[in-house]
Amino acid sequence: MSAAMLELADARLTYRRGAARFAALDGVSLSVAQGECVGVIGESGSGKSSLARVIAGLAEGATGTLRLAGEAVPITPGARRREQCRRIQMVFQDPVGSLNPVLTIGAIIAEGMAIHGIGTRAERRERVAALLADVGLDPALAARRPHELSGGQRQRVAIARALAVEPDLLLLDEPTSALDLVVQAQILNLLLALQEARGLAYLFISHDLDVVRHLCHYVHVITAGQIVESGPTEAVFAAPQHPYTQGLIAAMPGATR
Ligand code: ADP
Ligand code: MG
Repeated sequence: MSAAMLELADARLTYRRGAARFAALDGVSLSVAQGECVGVIGESGSGKSSLARVIAGLAEGATGTLRLAGEAVPITPGARRREQCRRIQMVFQDPVGSLNPVLTIGAIIAEGMAIHGIGTRAERRERVAALLADVGLDPALAARRPHELSGGQRQRVAIARALAVEPDLLLLDEPTSALDLVVQAQILNLLLALQEARGLAYLFISHDLDVVRHLCHYVHVITAGQIVESGPTEAVFAAPQHPYTQGLIAAMPGATR
């Protein structure tokens, strides 16, 4: 495995709760190498989306340090340069809410390229067609709008939009949780094929242990904003060390332990 693409150290994020503040992220550190898929598993409310938002530069008030391919990237949204934003892209859980309903699929995919000054208008149109093909969609869908697509097709569009600006790191925040099992498997296989073809670094966030086991080389277990266990995926599943991880694995459907 090559040098780290992403290095995050001591990430912290607090939210207001009544009169007090609580830590949604309480000192999280992790790294992802090029071509590697690192998983983050934890139950709802454990801080997974907060972690993705901090790395994506969407979390106001976050602290910690972030490096991308060795280069320091500001952790707070306002301070990040456009080029640094381009290199980290995110795919969200909800394929309905994350696509602008008034734009065509082609415009949605081309938007980021225009923002980052990639290609002429004609070149972007060609790239949209190629990207749609890359994610297994008919390029003719470029003229459609999100509501005309199925959930799985929408998530393919979200992946194409992320890939359009040629990121180094893809943040996948429960990208298949809203999909039924067959479609979920198709999207996961697409993600694996795209990673192999492009050598991308993935941070894959999920509450679904089976999915993480299928996809990730390495896994972190998060609860209450802290990573409590980390290791190669198979080692963690075979012999979980932390009681929280042991509980998660014992609660898996079909668990025999
Ligand atoms: P997960 O993605 O693992 O379900 P989140 O990162 O979304 O967890 O949330 C972690 C904790 O922070 C939860 O207790 C959640 O209720 C809280 N939280 C998330 N976003 C906000 C927000 N914008 N304001 C206040 N609390 C929030
Ligand atoms: Mg979440």
